[in-house]
Amino acid sequence: MSECIFCKIIARAIPATIVRETDDILAFRDVNPQAPQHILIVPKRHIEKLADLDDSDAALMGRMLIEISKLAHELDMETQGYRLVLNNGSDAGQSVWHIHAHLMSGRPFRWPPG
Ligand code: AMP
Repeated sequence: MSECIFCKIIARAIPATIVRETDDILAFRDVNPQAPQHILIVPKRHIEKLADLDDSDAALMGRMLIEISKLAHELDMETQGYRLVLNNGSDAGQSVWHIHAHLMSGRPFRWPPG
């Protein structure tokens, strides 16, 4: 079993509140939410970071964005708006080395981000 915490969630080896699943994507609630709604969306395949993607990942990443859009609709985030964040590298705030998008909603978000 991989040591990756998100791979363990995907394998159901540790619990998470799963809100959406497809053949190759999983979405679950962040354990330490930074907004009233804070969902993490991950590819099931272990890819460490955005910088590791190549052209062969185009369809997977495209599907991930479409699933995020559907999820935001299902969770009623469209009226208030939502923010999507992908941290790449430690200086950017990445702490889990399995690509994930943060989908957050339910409060105003400032720009530029901190
Ligand atoms: P990042 O800092 O961009 O790598 O984001 C990692 C996110 O994973 C953080 O927001 C954490 O709160 C979240 N996280 C870490 N462990 C878990 C877990 N077991 N279940 C749900 N979310 C987690």
